[in-house]
Amino acid sequence: MSTPPGARRIDGRAIAARLRAQAAEVASALRERGVQPLLAVADPTAGDEGAAWYMRSISRAAEQTGIGCQIHPVDPAGGQEAVTSLLTRLSGDPAVHGVICQAPLPPGLTAAAAGGCIAVAKDVDGANPASLGQLAAGLGGAFAPATAAAVIEILRAEGVPLEGRRAVVVGRSTVVGKPVALLLLAENATVTVCHSRTAGLAAVCREADVLVAAAGRPGLIGAAHVAPGAVVIDVGITATPGGVMAGDVDEAAVAPAAAALTPVPGGVGPVTTAQLLRQTAAAAWRAETSRIQS
Ligand code: NAD
Repeated sequence: MSTPPGARRIDGRAIAARLRAQAAEVASALRERGVQPLLAVADPTAGDEGAAWYMRSISRAAEQTGIGCQIHPVDPAGGQEAVTSLLTRLSGDPAVHGVICQAPLPPGLTAAAAGGCIAVAKDVDGANPASLGQLAAGLGGAFAPATAAAVIEILRAEGVPLEGRRAVVVGRSTVVGKPVALLLLAENATVTVCHSRTAGLAAVCREADVLVAAAGRPGLIGAAHVAPGAVVIDVGITATPGGVMAGDVDEAAVAPAAAALTPVPGGVGPVTTAQLLRQTAAAAWRAETSRIQS
């Protein structure tokens, strides 16, 4: 869909290509030292269609970037234990540099419990609560969830100033809303986090210079939520009955006021995948550096 006049449409695919090129450079430097960067994916989804699509896109992008990607299917009959023991094993494997666990998880296994099995140094999608804790404490050394980091990379690539600016994040989940808010704080933005019980959502959103929508509610953000000149980042992806992916932002309604916005698809999604690979390359680089120093 084309954006009506007004907002600049941010090209997430172009930003992703630049981030993948950076990851490819690191991967190439590692291969020259005899190290093949490797991302391992635990897959307990038993053929879930959405998960399979996402894993194919990661594998393809990894291959183009010179990063190995191993998918490890887990038999759902093995329950929680099969997933946690696989994650623990991958986490301890010196040939593996990044570990992620694909959702949906088996019944009873929380994202926190699964993420907790991944060593922080290999937690390239920020799934371990300890990684989020390090992020909150401003300690460095841990990776943010790739989607949250992708939001910041987009703003950086677009030259959007954050210091001293008002940022509003709609959504407070552990994987998106909270880490995005922490990363915006680290950039010295003044951050407000909204959620399903926020009163007067539109008025709060209208205070934003930068509005990040991560609620998973198609069309939630309309003309009333966007101040003139705001930059709008749409993290939401919801599969509609027609099989089309819908963002949280009503692009046509928002475009006349916004300065720039990310489309769905073609916005945050491709940047997330590129950022995951970048973080895998960075994890491999750190592992190699500390091996040489020890
Ligand atoms: P979630 O369901 O865990 O959290 C949604 C959050 O939105 C909650 O904090 C909730 O309070 C808030 N919310 C829900 N309805 C609201 C409303 N009417 N008003 C204000 N706040 C409301 O979802 P999530 O895992 O954080 O994902 C959010 C969206 O981002 C989903 O559409 C998901 O598919 C998408 N997502 C995209 C990527 C990507 O790479 N682009 C990655 C992860 C998630």
